[in-house]
Formats: sequence, structure tokens, C-alpha cells
Amino acid sequence: MIDLKQNEVWFVTGSQHLYGPKTLEQVAEHSREIAAAFDASKHLPVKVVFKPVLTTPDAIRELCLEANSTKKCIGLITWMHTFSPAKMWIAGLSLLKKPFAHLHTQYDREIPWSTIDMDFMNLNQAAHGDREFGFIGSRLRLDRKVVVGHWQDDEVQAQLGVWARAASAWADWQGAKVARFGDNMRDVAVTEGDKVEAQIKFGYDVYGYGIGDLVKAVNEASDGDVEKMMQAYLDEYDVIPSLRPGGERNASLKDGARMEVGMRNFLQAGNFKAFTTTFEDLHGMPQLPGLACQRLMRDGYGFGAEGDWKTSALVRAMKVMAEGLKGGVSFMEDYTYHFSASGDKVLGAHMLEICESIASKKPKLDILPLSIGGKADPVRLIFDANTGPAIGASIMDMGQRFRMVANVVDVVPTDEPLPKLPVARALWLPRPNLKVAAAAWIYAGGAHHTSFSYSVTAEHLQDFADMAGIEFLLIDENTRVQEFKEKLRWNDLYYHLNKGL
Ligand code: MN
Repeated sequence: MIDLKQNEVWFVTGSQHLYGPKTLEQVAEHSREIAAAFDASKHLPVKVVFKPVLTTPDAIRELCLEANSTKKCIGLITWMHTFSPAKMWIAGLSLLKKPFAHLHTQYDREIPWSTIDMDFMNLNQAAHGDREFGFIGSRLRLDRKVVVGHWQDDEVQAQLGVWARAASAWADWQGAKVARFGDNMRDVAVTEGDKVEAQIKFGYDVYGYGIGDLVKAVNEASDGDVEKMMQAYLDEYDVIPSLRPGGERNASLKDGARMEVGMRNFLQAGNFKAFTTTFEDLHGMPQLPGLACQRLMRDGYGFGAEGDWKTSALVRAMKVMAEGLKGGVSFMEDYTYHFSASGDKVLGAHMLEICESIASKKPKLDILPLSIGGKADPVRLIFDANTGPAIGASIMDMGQRFRMVANVVDVVPTDEPLPKLPVARALWLPRPNLKVAAAAWIYAGGAHHTSFSYSVTAEHLQDFADMAGIEFLLIDENTRVQEFKEKLRWNDLYYHLNKGL
């Protein structure tokens, strides 16, 4: 469902005619070599395409317009090998609608002390050429990522790779469709928001559907597809005996399979990338769809419970960022605390809908009662999540603007087994600790729902927030509550004023 190799990043080198054709040929040759190295790099998940060296305002403008209108181009990496007077870039950069990363590198890694002459100096000019380019980026107040270091270094390529993943997610959001089955959970505030503003700012569109539209698709699921789905469950999970063929609750598994087939058909037919459900609107559905949501998330769909379209879209974006990386991405909720001398912990879970991409081993497929919703017992996958560093992020509509907040956490094994807990779960220690992390999160107005990932990092989210032009607040090992509160106040002022900057 997600293929990052379809995406192209264009490698764009700036120069000028002053140096004559010989130097420009050399610049092009070096630029081609760097683009090829990035294209082959394990750190960059997308295609990197060399573009001819730009030496005039017209050529720059044409390239930016071409980037805008080329769907598979998700952004530019720019580099000024030689000096490229930046007034030439004003028209192009002002029109550019795609993200760009400014690579500040030099073709030759080291100074050849005994042979360096003016020819070498005139070729390796990025130290000042990139500063001229940087000035115009700042003068135009353009959000971009600046990456500094030698182009062959792993760290430089990794930083560009992170940016390319964020740019892929950003491109994926443009024109994306989110299906919303039912409305918001009644009276919940943080899952609401301005969908028109979100479409203007983020590019995705939220389509509302009555649950009857989904019920129709579920009822139309073919018996053959339902049988195949049941077989997939038996092949992939530890299915409890009562749900197996001949078991007394096998019919409930069939209901679950029918819901999944119907939801898949609906989402595929409408070309949706994400969806929401709500337990308050299930008329005609036999159960709250748990298993179906878990498996659809695993396959790359964004998901948000209780009508939470912002988290659903964010889960999808983080699925794109994480594509091909170890770890996983899931919808998540801070559910219950464990205050203890060994460190205050958060038990993360949801009523049902945690993605199996974060499971530590083969999930158990079980059926148990759900205390809310008033429907038949839902089938669901139960598992412990992986351990290790992870991040939870959410986007809130603050009224005048959107804010992203994220917390870096360490997922740990549960102190003891949880034989009676009927849902998938993750237990974590927030950084720097629960007291600071939760206070900061609450001061920021952070949601109880998050998109939770072991492969997406703060750097991915920072790059992504910059592309979206929204505030990004990180809570990690360096967070201090007092400084964080001050940052919130300053940011309120900045984002209020920045429309006029
Ligand atoms: Mn919830």
C-alpha cells in the first residue's frame, strides 16, 4: 500500500556562468556523482534524481515550476557547489510548493595541503556559496532543513533520509481521503477540530459517512471472501478454540471477518488512506470493529477511534515515514498509570484497536465482552507490544492553529503477566519521567490519543511539522517544565505574529 521508491527527490545544484564551461562541467559531474551516491544509499528510501546545474533565474524558476507539477517529485535537495548569487533564486523559491532540504556539503572532503591552489578553491566554494543561498531562504522565511557535513558520511545521508521520509508523508497527505464512519464521540473536545482549516493546512480531506454506508458494504461482503479472511486468521494468529471451526463462537469470528472484508472493500473502492470509527454509532454492525481496525492499520491505513480524524491522519503519515523500517506504528491511548518506586509508568492501550505491527510476538485472537457500546462481544488481537525506545505524537486544533506535541518514551516489559487484560498493550516510562512528561503534555493541551511508533523519531516529526508549518513541541530527556511553559507562551505570541512576518 505504501511504496517510497515511487517518490523522487530532485538533486539540484546551483552555480553561475562566471566560471566558464570547464568548471561548470566539473560541477555537473560532481553533482551527478553525489546524486547517484544518495540514490544508492541505504539511508535514502526514495529515488534521488540528478537535475542539470542551474545558472540562471529562468532555469531556476522553470525547475521549481516543474517540481510543483510533477506528482512523483516530493521535494528538492539543494546544494551550491560554487557561488550562485541568490537573487537568481527569489522567483523560483517563491513559487516552490514542495519541501526542500539544503545540503551544506563540499565535494572534496579535505584540503590537499601541499597542492591546494586557486582552482581547488574556486571549485570547492560551498562554504560561502551555501551561505548566500541560506540568506535568501531566511530572507524569504522559508521552512527547510539544513544538513551539514561531508556527503559521503552516514550521518548526513541518514539526516537526508529522515527528511525524505517526512517529505514522503507530506506528499502522501496531499489529496488524501480520510473516511469517517459516524461522527465524534459525544462531548469529547480534543478529537474535534476545523476540518476545512485542516484541509487548507495539511492537504487531506475528511469524508463523513453514516454507519449505514459501511453496513451496506459489510452485508455485501461475499461468502467466499469471508471464508478466505477466516482462513487468514487461522493461519496468522493463535486463535482460541471456541472461535475455531466447530467452536461454539465461530459465528462471531465470521461476523468479524465479514466486517473486515466490508471495510476493506469500502476503503479500497473510495481510495481512502485512513478512517475513523465510533462506538456510539454502530447501528447495524454486529460488533465494534476491533480486529478489522487492527489489521487495516497493519496494512498501512491510518486509524482513529471515537471519530478522531486528526490522529487517524497522523497514524497514516507515520506509517509512511516508517515504511521499511523496523518497529511499527499504532493508534494508542494513555490508558492507566502505575505509580511506583521503580519509576512511574503508563499503560497504553485502547478498547481494542492497537496495531499488530508493534506486537512482540504472534498475537492471540480472542473474544471477550466490551463494557461499552451495547453490541455483541468483539473479536480482537491481544499481545504485548515490543520493548525499546518509542515516540507518541498528537496534533491538536488550538483554535487559531494546529500544534503537534510528542513524547519520547521507553517501552518496558510489564512487571508481571496480565492474564485478565483483554486488550493489546504497551507499558512505558516517559522521558524524562512521568511527572515532567505528563505535566508538560497537559500544559500543551496534548490529546489522550496518539500515534505511537518505534521507528519514527523526533527528527522525522520535526521535519514533518516544519513542512506543514505548524508548531512542534518535543518532550524528552531534556525537558524542564518551567522552560516548557515559557516556550508555550512564546510560541503563542510567535504564531500569532508570524502571519505578518
Ligand atoms: Mn479513545
